[in-house]
Amino acid sequence: MKNPTVVALGNLELSPANQDWLPPTSFEKSNPKPTICELPTIRTDEQHLMVDFKNYYGYRLGRDQSCKSLHYAYEALSLAISDRIIDHWKKTYNAYKEQDCKRVSYLSMEFLMGRTLSNTMINLGITDVVLKAMYKLGLDLEELLEAEHDAGLGNGGLGRLATCFIDSCATLRLPVTGYGLRYEYGMFSQLIINGEQVEAPDRWLRDGNIWETERFEYRQIIKFGGRTKYFTDDQGVTRISWIDTHDVLAVPYDTPVPGFRNGVVNTLRLWKAVANEEFDFKEFNGRDYAEIVVEKNMAENITMVLYPNDASENGKELRLKQQYLFASATLQDVIATWIGRHGNDFSEFTAKNCFQLNDSHPSIAVAELMRLLIDIHGLSWDDAWNITQNTVAYTNHTLLPEALECWSVNLFKQLLPRLLEIIFEINARFLVEVSRRWPGDTERLTRMSLIKEGTDQQVRMAYLAIVGSYSVNGVAKLHTALLQKGLFRDFYEMWPEKFNNKTNGVTPRRWIASCNPGLADLITATIGDGWLTHLDRLKNLAPYADDSDFRQRWWQIKRHAKQCLIDYQKQQHDIELSLDALFDVQVKRIHEYKRQLLNVLHVIHLYDRIKRGDTENWTNRNVFIGGKAAPGYIIAKKTIKLINNVADVINNDPDVGDRLKLIFLSNYQVSAMEIICPGTDLSEQISTAGKEASGTGNMKFMMNGAVTIGTLDGANIEIRDEVGPENFFLFGMTVDQIEAYRQHYDPVALINQDPDLSRVFDLLEGGHFNRFEPGIFDDLIASLKNKQDIWMSIADFRSYVDTQKRVEAAFKDTEHWIRMSILNTAHSGKFSTDRTITEYNQDIWKLIPINLSDS
Ligand SMILES: *Cc1c(COP(=O)(O)O)cnc(C)c1O
Repeated sequence: MKNPTVVALGNLELSPANQDWLPPTSFEKSNPKPTICELPTIRTDEQHLMVDFKNYYGYRLGRDQSCKSLHYAYEALSLAISDRIIDHWKKTYNAYKEQDCKRVSYLSMEFLMGRTLSNTMINLGITDVVLKAMYKLGLDLEELLEAEHDAGLGNGGLGRLATCFIDSCATLRLPVTGYGLRYEYGMFSQLIINGEQVEAPDRWLRDGNIWETERFEYRQIIKFGGRTKYFTDDQGVTRISWIDTHDVLAVPYDTPVPGFRNGVVNTLRLWKAVANEEFDFKEFNGRDYAEIVVEKNMAENITMVLYPNDASENGKELRLKQQYLFASATLQDVIATWIGRHGNDFSEFTAKNCFQLNDSHPSIAVAELMRLLIDIHGLSWDDAWNITQNTVAYTNHTLLPEALECWSVNLFKQLLPRLLEIIFEINARFLVEVSRRWPGDTERLTRMSLIKEGTDQQVRMAYLAIVGSYSVNGVAKLHTALLQKGLFRDFYEMWPEKFNNKTNGVTPRRWIASCNPGLADLITATIGDGWLTHLDRLKNLAPYADDSDFRQRWWQIKRHAKQCLIDYQKQQHDIELSLDALFDVQVKRIHEYKRQLLNVLHVIHLYDRIKRGDTENWTNRNVFIGGKAAPGYIIAKKTIKLINNVADVINNDPDVGDRLKLIFLSNYQVSAMEIICPGTDLSEQISTAGKEASGTGNMKFMMNGAVTIGTLDGANIEIRDEVGPENFFLFGMTVDQIEAYRQHYDPVALINQDPDLSRVFDLLEGGHFNRFEPGIFDDLIASLKNKQDIWMSIADFRSYVDTQKRVEAAFKDTEHWIRMSILNTAHSGKFSTDRTITEYNQDIWKLIPINLSDS
C-alpha cells in the first residue's frame, strides 16, 4: 500500500441544509406523505466511489491512519458496492410480486460460496472503475479482495453447484430463490501438522458479514417433539394437531444474488435457528429463570455447524433437526407468500411453484408440505398429495450406497411424530399402487418400501424424494443411466417419465472472468464479448489454435497463472518449483473413490525411475494434491499423511531435483481453486468408473485450458466427447469392464506381474516413506491389496502409468500442447451452468424470464 489517502475525510457538518431531518420543534406532522423511499441515485464513477468508500471507512467503521488491517478497507468497499445493488434488488423483488409469476425455490443444505466481492463487481460490470478508484486512494484492489473470508457453507461439489446455479438463474432472469442454512461454523479449516490433517473451526462470521440482511419479520416457528392429537373439527372432519412441542424460531438472512449485467438481483435466503423467547410462564414451575434461558438457547445449536461429511451420511440427531428446520422454514415461507396474495386458495399453487431438492438432504420437505397443507391449511389428503407430487423435484448426486440417507424410525418418532405418521401413510398408499401394478411381487414391495425393515426400522429418504416428486434427475449422462439401470431401477420401471438428466456445469463468471482475468481479456480481444453469457461461442477460439502468435499469448497467460500458483504454494511450503515443469493437479475432497492413492502410486513410480536412473527423455513435473478429508474417515486422513510423507522424501532428495516435486496444498477451498485452476496444465480426474456422479472440478480446469487425464466416469465422458479424444488422455476400465472384473480382481497377482508396481510396493512396504513411524501405512496398503477393494486402484495402474507417459511426450511438444490447451477451453461451452439451468427450466421448471421494464 503506497501512501493511502483513505483517511482524509470530508467534514460531516450539520449545515442548515442537513438539519431538515431533525424533528420539527412543534411536533406537528409536517409531512403527511413520507418521502423516505425516494432515494438519491447513486453514481458509480471513480469520484463517487471514493467518497462513499471514505465515508464508510472513516465514519461507519470509524477507522483512521492507525488502522493496519486491510479487512476494514475490504468492508468499506463492500458496503459501497452493496449500496449499488439494493435498488435493483428491490425492483426485482417487486417485479416478481407484481407479475405474480411462477417461482422456483432451490433447496440446498449447502452453498459453497467462497468470496463475494470480486464476483459482484464482475456481475455489475464495475471492476475497472473500482480498480481505478482504489488506486487513487493508494489501495491495491487485489489485496482488499484477499481480505475477504471464504463463505464455506458446503463440503464440495454439491454445495459449489448450488452457488453456480443461483448465479446462472439470476443471469438468465429466472425467478429462483436459493434457500439454505446459515451455519455459524462453515467447513473446517485444514491445518497440516506433522503431515496430518488437523481441523480448526471456521468462524467465518467473526468479523461480520456485510452481504447479509437479517429479516426477523419473516421468521418461522419450527416444532420438535411432542405428540399428535386427533380431534373432530366443526365440520365433523377428523383432524390432527401436533401438540406439546418444543418450538424453535428460524430467522432468515438474505444475501443478494446479482445476475450478469442485467439488473436482476435474486435472493439467497439462509435460515438461522434462534431460541423462541416466548416463555410459557408455567415452564418456570419453581425453576431458575437463568436455567430456562440457557436451555432455550440450546435451540441455536441447530444451525451451529455444517457437518463435514462429503458422500457419506452420519446419522446424528442434530443433522435431522437441521434438515427439518430447513425444510419446514422454507415451505412455511413460500406458503406465507402464497397466502399473502391468494388467500387459502391453493388451486393454482402447483402452476406457480416448484421446489427443487439438491440431493435427498431436504427430502423431509415432501412430508412437511403434506403436513402444512392438511393440518394447517385444511386440504384433503388427495389434494395435498396432488400438489406435493407436482411441485417437488429431486436431484440425485451419488450412487454410493453409504451416502444414501436413512433415518431411524425411532428417532423420527421422538423428534417428528407427526411427520412419521405422514410418511407411513404415504408409504401405505404407495405400496398399494405398487402391488396393483405388480400383483404378488412381495420382493419388489420390500425393495421399494420407504421403510427399510429390520431390528432398527429406517426411513429411506431418497425414496421419499422419488415418490413425492414429479422429476428425478441425475447430474451427468452416465450417472443418470446408472440410476435408471441400478440404484433406482424399480422406480424407473414404475415411472420412466419422471427420470431425466441434467449434466452439471460451472459459472464462467467466477470460473473464467473472475479467476483468470488475463485469459478473459485475451478471449474477448479475439472473439468479442458475449461469450460470458453464451459460452458456446468459445468454439470460435478453435481456429486460433493454429495461429502461432495467439498460441504464444495463450502460453504467456498460462505461465503467469503457473507463477501465481507457485507464489500461492510458497505461503505453505519452502519449496522451489520450476515454472517449466508440467503442473499436474488433483484437488477435490479426499475419498477412496476419487483415488488419490492411484496418483500417489504413480508419483512413487516416477521417484523410483529417477532413483534407478531411468530418466531418458524425462519431463519435469510438479504434482499438486489438495483436499479435505471427513474428520471421521480414517483411510482418507491416512491418505493425506501418506501424500505428505512421500512429498517429504521426494522434495528433499538431491537426486530428484527439478524432475519431480510433490506438493500437498492444504485447506483447499473456493478461493484456492480460483488460483489453482488457471495455473494447471494437467487435470487429474481419475475416479473408479461409475463412482463420480459428474464432477465439476473437471469443468473448471477444462475452461482454463488444462488437459484432462481421466477415466470414462461422470462428466469426463461428455468432456471428452466435446473436446475430441485426441485432446483428452483417457485411461482405465469402463463401468462394464470394472463390474465384470470385480469377481476375479486379484490385486496381489497384478502387483507381482508388474515390475514397476512391485517396486512401488517394495518402497511402500519397506517403510521408505515412514522410516520413523513403523506400520502407519499398513491399513492403506492392505486396502489396496484387498480383493474386495471396490475402488480397484491396482486394476488401472498400468493403464494410468502408460497414459502418463503419453502425457509427458505431449508436453514436450510445447506447440502441440498449447493447441490442446486452447481446444479444451474452446470446447468447454457446454459446461456453463447457463446451459444446465436452461435445461432445468425447459424440462422441469418452465419459468418465464422476468422482464424488469414491464413493472
Ligand atoms: C469445484 C469444487 C469442488 C468439486 O470438485 P470435484 O473435483 O468435482 O470433486 C470441491 N471443492 C471446491 C472448493 C470446489 O471449488
